[in-house]
Amino acid sequence: MTLPNGAIYLDHAATTPVDPRVIERMLPYFSERFGNPSSVYGLGRLSLAAIDEAHELVARSLGCRPTEIVFTGGGSEADNLAIKGVAYAQRRRGNHIITSAIEHHAVLHTCQRLEREGYRVTYLPVDTYGQVDPADVAAAITDETALVTIMFANNEVGTIQPIAEIGRICRERRVPFHCDAVQAGGAMELNVVSLNVDMLSLSAHKFYGPKGVGVLYIRQGTRIQPQILGGSQERNRRAGTENVPGIVGAAYALDLATRQRDSETPRLMALRDRLIEGVLTIPRARLTGHPTRRLPNSASFVIEGVEGESMLLNLDLVGIAASSGSACTSGDIEPSHVLTAMGYSASEARGSLRLTLGHSNDEEDIQTTLQRLPEIVERLRGLATRPALR
Ligand SMILES: *Cc1c(COP(=O)(O)O)cnc(C)c1O
Repeated sequence: MTLPNGAIYLDHAATTPVDPRVIERMLPYFSERFGNPSSVYGLGRLSLAAIDEAHELVARSLGCRPTEIVFTGGGSEADNLAIKGVAYAQRRRGNHIITSAIEHHAVLHTCQRLEREGYRVTYLPVDTYGQVDPADVAAAITDETALVTIMFANNEVGTIQPIAEIGRICRERRVPFHCDAVQAGGAMELNVVSLNVDMLSLSAHKFYGPKGVGVLYIRQGTRIQPQILGGSQERNRRAGTENVPGIVGAAYALDLATRQRDSETPRLMALRDRLIEGVLTIPRARLTGHPTRRLPNSASFVIEGVEGESMLLNLDLVGIAASSGSACTSGDIEPSHVLTAMGYSASEARGSLRLTLGHSNDEEDIQTTLQRLPEIVERLRGLATRPALR
């Protein structure tokens, strides 16, 4: 499938289109089934039933109880609720938080805020593949540790962390453990029991659901302070009239993704491996992230001697939508915190390219990309070595 403008979409880690079946399921809750779930009359009860069913669907997919699911206004909000909610609730136990250097900014900026409020945060290092060593987690835990938060899979390089092992350590030491699994939602099996997690975040728009809807699993008995106040929705853990169509869509999207996974995963992995193999034939191109312990749809690289942003603009010109690992703020290109934590120099990190696959992609997309990308890299390198005009 191509985009409305005819482009090939290789940025599924940024967001995904809503599955038409999901849209169809959501539609009645915008119009005829518009009732407030808190209302006592029949129309309200229809909405409440839809929300209850959504809790059940998500719970089935994650292997938990429906009451352990809280719907939020997105992945970032789920991360904020987990981290601030537990940090504030655990304040008397201690003010130490453990995370990794390569988390999403929804986690990192939240931890930084808590630092300014007097918490102490340990940012664990990662190896060259972007993996956290569970032994480092064990060594960092103290009697003051109130929370450990480590992501399931990295959004820039796709590396998967040893979550079950880290969770086992946290459980032994009785420290609450949160996992930002936003990139893995729908794509990987996530069973909260075997992963030993106390909290887990998901975001619907990363698995063909609507934007602005997140999920936080909160294990029963976890002490957490709500961050949005004002009503008793979501069992007092997230106030505000529920986004009924969004919640219905999120749950159905996760259910669809879960059921499609067995056929979709091997297909995506095969496309990904073809893509990786092809890109690595470009001179001085390297794979970033773990060669095998990575998301099935994620291919990421550093290509020396080219600016990531220039690659993206040139790919866009030939109708390929891709991303680089680096966050570009007001023309000032900061090297990715993920790649620098993995040991890449700032100049290496500037040549980063991330291609993330999804339902829409086929063999032809890969072929086109592998035809276009080397030409672009060659041209940009030629430009880079040409002496500056005076
Ligand atoms: C996208 C993403 C988020 C944020 O989710 P939103 O729903 O966009 O707020 C958090 N963590 C990771 C790893 C992500 O990839």
